[in-house]
Order: sequence, then C-alpha cells, then structure tokens
Amino acid sequence: MGDLLEFVKTVLHALEEAGYEAWCVGGCVRDLLLGRTPEDWDVATAALPEETMAVFGERAVPTGLKHGTVTVRTAEGAVEVTTYRLDGEYRDHRRPESVSFTRSLEEDLARRDFTVNAMALNLRGELRDPFGGQADLAAGVLRCVGEADRRFEEDALRILRGLRFAAVLGFRLEADAARSLTRNRALLEGIAPERVWTEVRKLLQGRFAAETLRAYPRVIGVFWPEILPMVGFDQRNIHHCYDVWEHSLHALDAAPGDAALRCAALLHDIGKPSTFTVDGAGVGHFYGHAARSCELAEGMLRRLRCPTSFRERVVRLVAWHDRDIPRTDRGIRRALRALGEEELRLLLALKRADNLAQAPAFWDRQREIRMGEEILDRLLAAEACFSLKQLAVRGEDLLALGLRGPAVGQALNTLLNKVIDGELPNDRVALLEFAAGAQPPAAP
Ligand code: ATP
Ligand code: MG
Repeated sequence: MGDLLEFVKTVLHALEEAGYEAWCVGGCVRDLLLGRTPEDWDVATAALPEETMAVFGERAVPTGLKHGTVTVRTAEGAVEVTTYRLDGEYRDHRRPESVSFTRSLEEDLARRDFTVNAMALNLRGELRDPFGGQADLAAGVLRCVGEADRRFEEDALRILRGLRFAAVLGFRLEADAARSLTRNRALLEGIAPERVWTEVRKLLQGRFAAETLRAYPRVIGVFWPEILPMVGFDQRNIHHCYDVWEHSLHALDAAPGDAALRCAALLHDIGKPSTFTVDGAGVGHFYGHAARSCELAEGMLRRLRCPTSFRERVVRLVAWHDRDIPRTDRGIRRALRALGEEELRLLLALKRADNLAQAPAFWDRQREIRMGEEILDRLLAAEACFSLKQLAVRGEDLLALGLRGPAVGQALNTLLNKVIDGELPNDRVALLEFAAGAQPPAAP
C-alpha cells in the first residue's frame, strides 16, 4: 500500500490536534490500497465547516460550504476537507435536496457510491471498511454501497462512474450493479452534459475502455445513440475481420494515451453504417464515410459540451484518418502545416491503430506509417519550415517591398507553400527575390 503524503498527514494531524476525528476517504484510499497514485485527496472530518475554517485560518478556502467542503491549501498540494455528511432525499436523480452534517464516519461512508470508494484511512494507518471494500478491491469488483437500483436512481451519474472505474481499473461490475445500471440507463438523460463528458473522457482514457464499452454499448447509447448502428454491422470487405463496432474497439485498444486520439479511434468509422453500399460482387464499400464520421463526431462532442479545442482536434483526426499516409518530405511538410507536430503524431498513431484493427493480412501498412514517422523525425531534426513563424521572411519585409494590405498575407502564404513544396529554399534572399519578381508592376 502507498503512504499518505506528508502534507495530507499535516492536515489530518491539525484536525485531530483540535479535537476532531479526521480520515482520508474515497478515491485516495482506494488508490493507495491499489498502489496507484491518487488524483486528489479527500479528508472527511467530524468538524463542522466553520470549525475546519477556524483550524486552518488563512489556508482554508470555503470552496463548497453548502456541501460542507473547505479546501485547505498547503505548499505541496490541496486537500478537500468535508464534514461528515448525510445526503437528504434525491428528487431529480442528480443531487440531494439537502445535505445534513453528522458526527458519524460510518454514516458518511454509507452515502458513497461503490464499496471500494467507501473506505477511510487515518494517520495511524487504521482502515474503516464497513461495506467490504477491501475484499472487493482484491476481487476487482465494483459493488454499490446498499441497493443498486436505489443508488443509481438517486444519482444517475453513478451509472457512468461505474463504467469509468471499470474502464480505468479493469474491475467488473457486480451482477446486481451491472443489471441495475443497464436497466436505469435512461436516467443519464437528466445529467448535465459537462458531467457526462468528464466521465466519458476518463472512461476513454482507461486501459480497459474497449472491454467496458463492449459490455455496455446501450448505456453509452443513451447520450451517444450514433454508436448503436455500429454494433454488429458487417463490413463485407476483405480488409476487415471485425464488424464496425469491434473494429472501432480494437482501434481504441491499440491507440495509446492521449484522450483526443482515443476518442478519434472510437469515432473514426462512426459514419460507416449510414454510407454503406454493396457492389455487384457483394463487396461492401463506405464511400464518403470519413466526412460523415466527422459530422457525427462533431455533433456528439458538441452535445456533451466538450471543450472546443478537443472537439476540433478529434474532428480533424477523424477527417484525416482515411487519407493516404504521407510518405514524402513534401507530404509530411504539408501535413505539418495543416496539423502541427503534435497532432500529426496523433494522426500517425491513429493510422497505426486503425490498421492494427483490420485483418492481419493488411498489417504491412505499418511499414508505411513507420516511414512517415521517420520522415517526420528527420524533417524536424533538420528544423524544416512548415509554418509562417518559421519562414525566413516576415510581413515587414514584404511591406518594405511595397506590398500592402491583404497582399502581404497572400504573399507570405505563397512563399510558405513554395518552401513546403520544395520549390524555394527557406532563405531570406531567395524568398525576397522571388517576392519582388512576383509583384505586379507598379501602376504608372
Ligand atoms: P478520481 O480518481 O477520479 O478522483 P474518486 O473516486 O476519488 O475518483 P471523486 O469525484 O474525487 O472520485 O470523489 C471522491 C469520493 O466521493 C468518491 O471516491 C466517492 O466516495 C464519493 N463520490 C463522488 N461522487 C459520488 C457520487 N456521485 N455518488 C456517491 N459518492 C460519490
Ligand atoms: Mg478523487
């Protein structure tokens, strides 16, 4: 088991010194027991919010007083300190109508979602585990605290949290929880899109995302119904040994790390079912599917209000996934101009994942992708020019040549394109000479 960090201990210690019980609770205890690094630190205490404020003075920020939460800032990190709480009635499947404070740790643990998230650990390493969280951790099981139906009905976000933990930890949902979250999935419609998005993003980044999505497409289909036609959709094409959904899940599995890349891997072929045609020989085709996938992905990500930069990146990756892999200096420079280095690397990773999710007979494409990457590395090492920033002339040089207004930007772009296409060197003298020659003669 990992240890509590010193700054967290300091917070627990200060509360105990002042006479209040204080325990680390929830995700950080789960992660410590698993030997993982906690994302954030939550402390539950018997102290009322104003008592916590008094203990920490200047260092305490009242970030969620209504729910009993005070953030304690230390030089090494922040700790969320929340008063032991009981949730009142839930009416809208989202938030309790009211919360009340209690002096009982057990009551606070009982409101938590899964047994593995309902354990507490104190300064002396004592563990409180009233619902068998430790046994469930050891078995890799996500079990609701209390009756599954009631817990998902109270707060439907727990449905997605369950899938997210399965995807991140590789745990399975206990049978009751699994049945119940599927049965109650429509309640997700009432959850704020931003909260759904936060969970979906974490889910997609989980190592076991593909397994989880494979098991619960109908749950995801509540807010992303576009995925449902992919399930079981036969591609009737020798390139493919999987249906569209399985292909997408294999691509997701083969796409490393980055959330936008993983999202693009899942959605890159989502336009296939609606663009499917069969030719005279009985072979399936999906003409225009990349553009259709872009449209659908755009709508799906907008619906969840995911950040614009993320959405645009996913859509660009989806748009480019079906183009030939650039394997010439010029092709790579053009792609660099359009996408930038980071995104081009993601595109190549998407291509690799997409190809690995096709029939093994076509895996020789991996070599072409590798070639693209080698060219990219070589060009970057040689500081190739692929953006206006790197061009050896600037706007003021062209102003000095007598160009004005939009002609300046147009000339810069022309020069950049010529450099990218290898028609001109990225050399100030050569570029200015060309620009001067290309200028229309001055009016008499
Ligand atoms: P992460 O690793 O993403 O931080 P976490 O389990 O710590 O996961 P948080 O959102 O940080 O999740 O919440 C901290 C704890 O609060 C959870 O472990 C759980 O005990 C409780 N909790 C959070 N959200 C809910 C919820 N919707 N219903 C019940 N308990 C919840
Ligand atoms: Mg947490």
